[in-house]
Amino acid sequence: MSLPISFEFFPTKTPEGAAKQEGVRQALYAKKPEFCSVTFGAGGSTQTGTFNMVAEILKEGVPAASHFSCVGASKASAREQLTTLKAMGVKRLVALRGDLPSGYGVGGEFQYASDLVAFIRLEFGDAFHIEVAAYPEVHPQARNVTADLKAFATKVQAGADSAITQYFFNSDAYFQFVEDAEKLGVTVPITPGIMPITNSSQLMRFSDMCGAEIPRWIRLRLQGFGDDTASIKAFGHDVITDLCEVLRAGGAPGLHFYTMNQSAPVLAICDELGV
Ligand code: FAD
Repeated sequence: MSLPISFEFFPTKTPEGAAKQEGVRQALYAKKPEFCSVTFGAGGSTQTGTFNMVAEILKEGVPAASHFSCVGASKASAREQLTTLKAMGVKRLVALRGDLPSGYGVGGEFQYASDLVAFIRLEFGDAFHIEVAAYPEVHPQARNVTADLKAFATKVQAGADSAITQYFFNSDAYFQFVEDAEKLGVTVPITPGIMPITNSSQLMRFSDMCGAEIPRWIRLRLQGFGDDTASIKAFGHDVITDLCEVLRAGGAPGLHFYTMNQSAPVLAICDELGV
């Protein structure tokens, strides 16, 4: 199946972690990703780790995308970091507002991701393919659904080439979002973000934070498995593979996997999908 896929990693903190992560990437490269992306801690907290991993991926001959968040940043610092990424050979960015960790002041010269997208286009022209974030289940801080959709369309109109969604388990939310965005004139591809289910407490914590809904039937089954990780993984594999099948059949332009720096769950899903 030639559905484009991409993988997302987060920067590692130790040399041991970096070595392990290299093995994870090598295993996933077998699936010929269109690109691999690396997350960026808001406020630049992981800048060195992000840039180092992006450089490793490029060295390994795979197109790399750096996430880049603007909250709290000045234009001068953003310009400097983007210049560094361009010089490294990075051609793709995931441009985000980000969330500052509590305790950080607000400040900064960018209010929304749309400001960052416009800034990148103004200062760097077409040097980067720009991805932005999309929220089929509505961003948690949005005033309402309509305002969030309009904000998304504004971000695309500012110069984004494509979008990746927050993860979700309800395919209807994705298809509705794509349809609504098209009505607002959005024509860029909106690729679903796919989160493998491997650990129930971590998934519930993340989902509460980012506003992704875990359907009741999934939540109750996960709770019912308790500490039985083998059953959680087997159930998660089936749920996510089915979701990917539905998305593919419904015309999703690709799949972007939140790997959580693990290869096995994503490889198993890709194998079953015939990727
Ligand atoms: P925006 O698009 O700016 O939206 C933020 C909020 O502001 C939304 O509620 C929106 O409705 C509202 N809004 C936007 N524009 C306007 C406007 N003009 N008027 C009124 N309201 C407006 N976080 C990280 O820290 N690092 C990462 O690497 C990272 N990677 C991510 C990758 C993906 C694919 C996704 C989906 C999310 C990622 N995040 C990451 C999380 C993201 O930073 C948070 O969700 C953050 O809260 C919003 O960022 P954004 O770029 O979507 O913001």
